[in-house]
Amino acid sequence: MSKEIIGELAELARQLEDQLKFYREIGISDIGGAGAGVKTEVAPAAHPGVDSPSNPVQDALRLDPATATAGRGAVDKGQISTPGADVEQSSLFGEQAARPAYRSTPSPVPILRSNDQSLEAIRLDIGDCVRCKLHVARTNIVFGEGNPQAKLVFVGEGPGADEDASGRPFVGRAGQLLNKIIEAIGLRREDVYICNVVKCRPPGNRTPERDEVATCEPFLFRQLAYIQPKVIVVLGLPAFQCLLKSKDSMSRSRGQWREWNGIKVMPTFHPAYLLRSPEKKRETWEDMKKVRDYLASLTD
Ligand code: URA
Repeated sequence: MSKEIIGELAELARQLEDQLKFYREIGISDIGGAGAGVKTEVAPAAHPGVDSPSNPVQDALRLDPATATAGRGAVDKGQISTPGADVEQSSLFGEQAARPAYRSTPSPVPILRSNDQSLEAIRLDIGDCVRCKLHVARTNIVFGEGNPQAKLVFVGEGPGADEDASGRPFVGRAGQLLNKIIEAIGLRREDVYICNVVKCRPPGNRTPERDEVATCEPFLFRQLAYIQPKVIVVLGLPAFQCLLKSKDSMSRSRGQWREWNGIKVMPTFHPAYLLRSPEKKRETWEDMKKVRDYLASLTD
């Protein structure tokens, strides 16, 4: 057998292994369909693109558009991004990337400078908020949680009942699935930052209304501008529409890199939707592999 064929087979095996690992992480024990009967108990070895929306946000937030280095780095984080050559690099997960670097173009340059000194300052500005009607029925404001220096931020739609009760994002069933998705790409929940478009629970878990989003989104944008992650994963249509101001459907948009203020954005399905439509987990895994590989390709 030629070396090329052996190489291709090895790559196929690696992809299958990746997929099985994800299915196992997110609780699928039988992948069904064409692969019916294929179980996911195999213990795999560890392995470890863009269009630009217009951005009305900067004015609203009084965020400082800088053109070159910018980012919170100017305040307290050092240089944000150093586009480098496509060489094999240390990954986010503390091991060598097991495959060629995926970045064929320089990583985007952050163009926002945050005026905030901390996430706590943003939370303080929210206060005991009564800016929109969602305050009436809420128990707790769900600001967000995680690593303030996260390279990866997940943005959901709005708190559900469990989140409203606890004051923490994504702690219910959808949150448990999100935890598994995070683990499937080799991270822990505490490595990333998790927040929502609206900080108060919409009654009956309805979709947040336009005025509610408009009132609350400046706080999300400030969170993102402060954290300056390398990647934002938007979970579901409301988060996608909020950040990208796009009318595209989630089915058409998922898996395609977008950009928000110089930060790469990956739209994917919301975990609550995946709970209702488990067959879509496969597509989310494809999207998350792109995120994982991009993060692994970064030098810093
Ligand atoms: N769904 C969301 O969009 N956010 C949460 O925090 C929980 C469920």
